[in-house]
Amino acid sequence: MTLMKLQLQNLILIDVDLRGRVKSGLKTFSILEFREPAKLIEIVKKRFISLGGVIFEGYSVSSICTYENAAVLLLAEGKILSSHLIIDAMGNFSPVVKQIRSGRKPDGVCLVVGSCARGFKDNSTSDVIYSSSSVKKVGDSEVQLFWEAFPAGSGPLDRTTYMFTYIDPQAGSPKLEELLERYWDLMPEYQGVTLDNLEIQRVIYGIFPTYRDSPLPAAFNRILQFGDASGIQSPVSFGGFGSLTRHLGRLSTGVYEAVRGDFVDSYSLSLLNPYMPNLSASWLFQRAMSAKQQSDVSPDFINELLYVNFQCMQKLGDPVLRPFLQDVIKFGPLAKTLGLVMLNKPQIIPSIFKQVGIPVLVDWSGHFFMLGYYTLLSTFADPVIRSLLNAFPPRMKYEWNRYLEAWKYGSGLDYKL
Ligand SMILES: Cc1cc2nc3c(=O)[nH]c(=O)nc-3n(C[C@H](O)[C@H](O)[C@H](O)COP(=O)(O)OP(=O)(O)OC[C@H]3O[C@@H](n4cnc5c(N)ncnc54)[C@H](O)[C@@H]3O)c2cc1C
Repeated sequence: MTLMKLQLQNLILIDVDLRGRVKSGLKTFSILEFREPAKLIEIVKKRFISLGGVIFEGYSVSSICTYENAAVLLLAEGKILSSHLIIDAMGNFSPVVKQIRSGRKPDGVCLVVGSCARGFKDNSTSDVIYSSSSVKKVGDSEVQLFWEAFPAGSGPLDRTTYMFTYIDPQAGSPKLEELLERYWDLMPEYQGVTLDNLEIQRVIYGIFPTYRDSPLPAAFNRILQFGDASGIQSPVSFGGFGSLTRHLGRLSTGVYEAVRGDFVDSYSLSLLNPYMPNLSASWLFQRAMSAKQQSDVSPDFINELLYVNFQCMQKLGDPVLRPFLQDVIKFGPLAKTLGLVMLNKPQIIPSIFKQVGIPVLVDWSGHFFMLGYYTLLSTFADPVIRSLLNAFPPRMKYEWNRYLEAWKYGSGLDYKL
């Protein structure tokens, strides 16, 4: 299992290429961009099978029963599989997650529409996030539209463009179809092209639900959520795959230790998806970027906020900007950015209060405090505890390993520039 873990990490690093050029309107950056995912999956699949793994492609899980010594999985096609531990990687719409969350409405949703098309002559830069207009009406809702664009791996003139928005889900929220109609109207202007000159390769869309109480602790013995199902991805970006790879090393080691020590009760498994103040703190950003219906702030507020934030982060340099662009929130960079925003544009503060509301800000302050606390713990307490770990009994060692990881990842100290 350890071998497989190491191999998986290496494989992913092979295909992740630091070549995207990002133009945020302020400065050009490099970002992680994924090339040829099918190739990556094929390599991982071969490796998995060579180690004795079996893949049931096209099968569907219909129920899971957990017992004292096993979890039994019933497939809709009639097969029955039994396992020591089930990793639920069924994504945002995992039926297990639906059951744990009791079908509760998400706290926020990111809606994405876009396409990959051939025919872009100017195809050498990328946008991580681009916004040029104030709040717009789509369907019956006010939305702030954002854009992302980058060269696709399928050909030199191929380009992927996304339009996305954050909403507070409620009746009357825009439909994907309405957003897609708007996308075809606005994309040519954004990219300086005409639709007639493009050959559409594929149309892309996605719904990304986010819950404030994420990541999701394991609710059942022997079942652990992983990837999008675990809610470990940032509520701001739709970079769930990036987040999955960021946590892969931590999780594969943790799962290995859990299985080896038989720590597969829900409490022990929950330690693998622990509270992370940096993830909880990013929820405020989604709220700040969602247009409010019947708003008492200017329709330009979101753009102004983004502009001043990115301007301050750019002034503070790569150690502040790069982790943020890669979805890693850290105490020092966040505190510096907030301080500089307050100095540079104090007049925006009342609008922030109006936009996100006092309860969200109070909640966020708690996570910000915890972010500082986790940073201190990981910096100063971690080395002391780590030196004692080998003297602990196995369960205690397993649990303390997980606490140390929670401090490190929850404060973003795993991020290396
Ligand atoms: C338009 C779009 C753009 C994206 N862009 C990026 C990006 O640029 N960078 C990035 O990092 N991430 C991006 N993502 C997110 C990324 O795709 C996800 O975070 C990632 O795929 C999550 O992987 P996962 O394995 O957790 O879940 P998924 O990829 O959602 O896989 C879940 C799997 O479970 C299966 N499943 C569901 N229910 C059952 C069942 N009952 N039985 C059996 N199988 C079941 C599904 O068929 C699916 O194959 C994007 C997503 C979309 C939609």
